[in-house]
Amino acid sequence: ICRRQISRPTMIPLKIFGIFEDRRKFYTKSLIDTKSFQDDIIVKDGDELFRYWNPRSSKLGAYLYKGARDIFIREASKVLYLGVASGTTASHISDIVGKNGMVFGVDPAFRPLTNFYFLSKERRNLAPILADASDPASYKQLVPQVDLIIQDIAQRHQTLIFRRNIDMYLRKGGFAILSIKSRSIDVKQKPSIIFKRVRRELEHDYTIVDFKSIEPYERDHAIIIIKK
Ligand code: SAM
Repeated sequence: ICRRQISRPTMIPLKIFGIFEDRRKFYTKSLIDTKSFQDDIIVKDGDELFRYWNPRSSKLGAYLYKGARDIFIREASKVLYLGVASGTTASHISDIVGKNGMVFGVDPAFRPLTNFYFLSKERRNLAPILADASDPASYKQLVPQVDLIIQDIAQRHQTLIFRRNIDMYLRKGGFAILSIKSRSIDVKQKPSIIFKRVRRELEHDYTIVDFKSIEPYERDHAIIIIKK
């Protein structure tokens, strides 16, 4: 009889707060004791559950695999997420900020936000907001000053939307993460030229903390992080 020994997972905390590694895969420690999505891959280490962060279904996840040094999410952070959709990425942020943190998820699309609403019933640190991020004043009553903004929306004016929300909601010293899709800004232009243009525009008002392409996980996409 040939018995192959499968070694048990050993989650090693990374220097990036809230992220764990096992065999070159990244995980967050689950806030809840069930799956959040049907395709969640859950690994048990001792009594704790860890959720696989798939770089193919999350741009922030892809950024981790591209050698991120920090994603600036801490325990009890308040986060504003623009373009939250069903909450795939937001669910990992929910794991990291824990029960004393909060993720305000904005999206104008009813269908995905309905899924996010159901997710918020299981994860009490998520707040769904049906709104258009290009009109940040429309959710003024619901969103306080936050520690971090993350934006992932495929819109031509994504940089302007990002800046408007930073100016209105990000506390001084806070960080903001933009996922840039060059084809939404200009299909005909080379992605590297678009990325440079966005970078120059943001550099004018904020400190650039990092800039990375997230290919091959997402074609023509980059992540840029600023500090206010
Ligand atoms: N960030 C999500 C994740 O990783 O789980 C996926 C986001 S999906 C690629 C892009 C989302 O942006 C869509 O759900 C879309 O409805 C939303 N969106 C498009 N225009 C928007 C706007 N003006 N304000 C807020 N969200 C917008």
